[in-house]
Amino acid sequence: MSFTLAIVGRPNVGKSTLFNRLVGKKLALVDDQPGVTRDLREGEGRIADLRFTVLDSAGLEEATDDSLQGRMRRLTERAVEMADVCLFMIDARAGVLPADEVFADILRKKNANVILAANKGEGKAADATILEAYALGLGEPIRMSAEHGEGMGELLDVLRPIANDFEERAAADAPEVDVDVGDEDEDAPRIPTRAKPLQIAVVGRPNAGKSTLINKIIGEERLLTGPEAGITRDAISVQQDWDGVPMRIFDTAGMRKKAKVQEKLEKLSVSDGLRAVKFAEVVVVLLDVEIPFEQQDLRIADLAEREGRAVVVAVNKWDTEDEKQDKLKTLRQSFERLLPQLKGAPLVTVSAKTGKGLDRLQQAIMRAHDVWNRRVTTAHLNRWLVGMLEQHPPPAPGGKRIKMRYMTQVKTRPPAFVVMTSHPDLVPESYKRYLVNGLREDFDMPGTPIRLYLRDQG
Ligand code: GDP
Ligand code: GDP
Repeated sequence: MSFTLAIVGRPNVGKSTLFNRLVGKKLALVDDQPGVTRDLREGEGRIADLRFTVLDSAGLEEATDDSLQGRMRRLTERAVEMADVCLFMIDARAGVLPADEVFADILRKKNANVILAANKGEGKAADATILEAYALGLGEPIRMSAEHGEGMGELLDVLRPIANDFEERAAADAPEVDVDVGDEDEDAPRIPTRAKPLQIAVVGRPNAGKSTLINKIIGEERLLTGPEAGITRDAISVQQDWDGVPMRIFDTAGMRKKAKVQEKLEKLSVSDGLRAVKFAEVVVVLLDVEIPFEQQDLRIADLAEREGRAVVVAVNKWDTEDEKQDKLKTLRQSFERLLPQLKGAPLVTVSAKTGKGLDRLQQAIMRAHDVWNRRVTTAHLNRWLVGMLEQHPPPAPGGKRIKMRYMTQVKTRPPAFVVMTSHPDLVPESYKRYLVNGLREDFDMPGTPIRLYLRDQG
C-alpha cells in the first residue's frame, strides 16, 4: 500500500519530465509544445527506497476552446481528488503566471495536501521566482530541476513523513481478516487480502475507438478522444472499477492525443503496443466494423496468442451498421479463416460511443480470464484422455505404436498440459490439435491459448 502523488500545474512547466524521472521509464512523452500531456497517466514512482503511485495530470490548456479548457480543469480536479498529495509545479524561469494562480485556487478549494515545486530551478534565472512563489501561500517551494535531477533529495525529505503517515493510517483502516493461521502464528501481522485488479489491454488500429471505449468504461474524462488518426501513444494504465470489478486497463494508444502525428510518437507506439500485451491478462482486440481484421489487427491478435494471453475480439462502432445479421455472419467467417489460432475466442459487438454491448464485453472478459486461470484435475484429465484415445487412436507411423499413458495440467495462465507418451516426436501435429480442440470443448475453455507438451515416457 502506498500513497498517490499527483503532479499538477499548467502546461510546459515540466510535469512529464518529472513523471519520467520518478517512474524511471519512457512512459511519458516530453514535448516543447504545450498540451502534449493532456490526460491522466499513472505509474509506479520511486525516489531512493520510497515507492508510490504517481499521476501525471492534465495541464490547463491555454486554448480559446472553452469546452477543452473546462475538460482540462475537470481532469485536474479529478487528479487532485484521486491523490493523497499534490505536487504543484511552476516554472521558475517563467515566474508565477496568472495561469498558475488558477491552479493554486483549485488546490486551495479542494483542500489538497500540496507540495509546491519550482521547476527549471537550475541557474540564477530562477532566484527571483523562488521568492515570488512564497506569495502563492502554499508554503515553501522546493527548488528543483526535473531535467537535471536536482531537488530530488528535498522532495524525498518532504514525501517521507507523508508516506509514514499514510502507512499508519492505512494500517489503522485495514479490515480485520479472519484467517485461521493456527496457534503459533497468533501474533503474526495480518495482511488483508485485496482483490487483485484484472489486467486488460485494449489494442487495435488507430481510430478503432480505444480511447472512446476506455472513457466509457471508466466513466470519466480521464482520457480525451479526438477524431484524428494516429494520435495515440505509449502503454499507460488506469485502474478503475468496472461495474464493481476492479480492472487495470492498459492502452497502447489513445491516451496520448495530439493534433499532428509525429515521428517519435509513431515509433514509440509500436513497441508500447507489445508492452501493453505483455502486461495484460486479457487482451481486447478492438476492431472497427468498417475495416475489420486488417493486417495490424491480425498481427496483434496473433502476438497476444503467442504471448499466452486470453483474447476477446470486440467489433466497435456497431451503431453504424445497418445489416447487423449479415455482417455478424461475415465477421465470424473472417474470424475463423484469419485467426484459426484463436478458435473459440469470443467475438462481441459493441458501440463504445453509446455504451451498447459493454456489459457483454465485460462478461466476455471475465469469462476469458476465468478460463485462462482454469485448472483441471489430473483424475479428470486421465479419464478424458482414455476416452479420446479410444475414440480416435493415435496413428502408428512405420508400425511404431504411440502409447499415451498419462496426462496432467502443469500450469495455468494460460492452461498448459503435459502428456506422457512413447515416441513424442512421431505424434503428428494434427493429433495434437485433436487433443487441444478436445480439451477446449470438453472442459469449456474457449478463447484461451492452450499449451500441450509431449514428454517421452517410452
Ligand atoms: P508539462 O507540459 O508540464 O508536462 O512539461 P514537460 O515535461 O513536457 O516539459 C516542458 C519543457 O520543459 C520540455 O522542453 C522540457 O525539456 C523542459 N523542462 C522540463 N524540466 C526542466 C528543467 O528542470 N529545466 C529546464 N531547463 N527545462 C526543463
Ligand atoms: P483510438 O485512436 O482507437 O483511441 O480511437 P478514438 O477513441 O479516438 O475514436 C476514433 C473515432 O471513432 C472518434 O471520432 C470517435 O468518436 C469514433 N468512435 C469511437 N467509438 C465509436 C462508436 O462506437 N461508434 C461510432 N459511430 N463512432 C465511434
